[in-house]
Amino acid sequence: MAPGTFWNPDIECMPRTEIGQLQLERLQATVNRAYRNVAFYRQRFEQLGFTPEDIQSLQDLQRLPLTEKDDLRAGYPYGMFAVPLREVVRIHMSSGTTGHPSVVGYTANDLVHQTDLVARNLTAAGITKEDVVQVFFGYGLFTAGFGYHYGTEALGASVIPVSHGDTPRQVEVMRDFRTTVIIGTPHYALRIAATMEQMGLDPNELSLRIGLFGGEAWDETVRQEIESRLFITASDVYGLAEIGGPGVSFECEQRAGLHIAEDQFLVEVIDPDTGEPLDLGQEGELVFTTLNKEAFPLLRYRSGDLSSLDTEPCTCGRTHARMSRVSRHTDNRIVVRGINIFPGQVEGVLAEIDGLGKEYQLVLDRTTALERLEVHVELSPDSTPDQMRRLVEIEEETQQKLQEILSLAVEVKLVEPGSIPHDADRLRIVDK
Ligand code: ZN
Repeated sequence: MAPGTFWNPDIECMPRTEIGQLQLERLQATVNRAYRNVAFYRQRFEQLGFTPEDIQSLQDLQRLPLTEKDDLRAGYPYGMFAVPLREVVRIHMSSGTTGHPSVVGYTANDLVHQTDLVARNLTAAGITKEDVVQVFFGYGLFTAGFGYHYGTEALGASVIPVSHGDTPRQVEVMRDFRTTVIIGTPHYALRIAATMEQMGLDPNELSLRIGLFGGEAWDETVRQEIESRLFITASDVYGLAEIGGPGVSFECEQRAGLHIAEDQFLVEVIDPDTGEPLDLGQEGELVFTTLNKEAFPLLRYRSGDLSSLDTEPCTCGRTHARMSRVSRHTDNRIVVRGINIFPGQVEGVLAEIDGLGKEYQLVLDRTTALERLEVHVELSPDSTPDQMRRLVEIEEETQQKLQEILSLAVEVKLVEPGSIPHDADRLRIVDK
C-alpha cells in the first residue's frame, strides 16, 4: 500500500463490526432527530406506532417506509429541514421528478463532513497537495461544483473554479495553468478532448494526469475513450444532491466498484418494483439513510440509481462496502450539464399553458461546446385564432416557465399538431 493513499485511515479501514456499531449509534441519533424536528417523519412514525427507541439494530430501519423524491418536493422549500434556518449556512437544491426542485440545507458541521468526504475521495484517486485541480462542474444551486471546490482546498491542492462554459477557454486554462486534475461530467471531458483536437493541441503535452467524473451514468467504453484521448486515469465518482452532494462513493486504485462512505451513509438495495430489500450482489435500487446530517436527515431515501453491493474486503485496504458502477436509473431522467431533468417536470409545465398540445420531444444537442436542450412541443389541434396570433408569446411563456422549473436554459420550438408521432421517443440526442 503506497503511503498517503488514505485521507482518514481509521475510518476508511475500520473493521466491519466496528462500522456496524458506529452506524447503529448514528442511526439512532438520526432517527431521533428526524422524529423530533421533521413533521413529515413524525407523522409517519405516529401512523406506524413507531418510536425512535424501536431502532435496536440496523435491520429495524427496514420497518420504516421509503422516502421518495415527491416527499421532498411536498416539503418545498424548508419543510424537511431538521434545524431552524438560523443554523443553516448553505442552501442547495436537487431536481424533482415534477414541479419545483427540492431544497437541501447544510449546517456548518454538515459542510465540514461533506468537505472531508470529498478530500477522502480525492486522496483515494491519488490526488495530493501538489496537484492543480480544474473543476468544470457547475458552481450554482447544484452541489457538485462547490463540493469538489472545498474538498480540494481542504486537501491542500490548488483549485481552479472554471465551472461550466467556454470550452476553448477551459482548454487554455488547462494548458497555461498546468492543470493536473480535471473534475466534471464524463461527456464534457470528451467535449474537451474534441476541442483540443480542433485547436491542434496534443493532450500529451499538457500536465493532465487524473480525471474524476460523475453526475451521469457512464461505462467502461467511455472510460477508455477519455483515457486514451486525454492521456489520464479516469475514475468514477458518485454523489447524490439530496443526501449531501459529492463524495458519497468513489473508486480506489483497484477500480472494483465504488467504496461507499459507510460512516456517513447506510445503504440498502431494494427491488424497485416491490420495495423489498435485496441480497448482496443483486442489482436493485440504491436507498440511502444519512447518518450524520444535522440540517437534512433522510431515512431510506430512494436514489433512482441501479447498482449492487459487495462487502468483501478490497485489496486497497478499505473496508467500506463497494457499489457497482451506476449505469442505469429506475426513472427516465436525462442529464444535461450535470443537472437531472425528468420528463414529468416538462409535462407539468406544458399542461399549464393554453394553446399547447400533449406531444413533445426533448432534443439534446451535444455537438456544441455547451450542451443545448431544445423542447419541441406541438400546438393544440384546437388552437383558437387568438392563440395562433400569440404564438411568439406562448413560446416565450413556455420557455420561461421551463427554465424556472428546470433551472436550465432551454429553447422552445412550437411545431404543427401531428408532427411529433405518438410513439416517438421523448428524448432525441444529437451527437457529433
Ligand atoms: Zn478498494
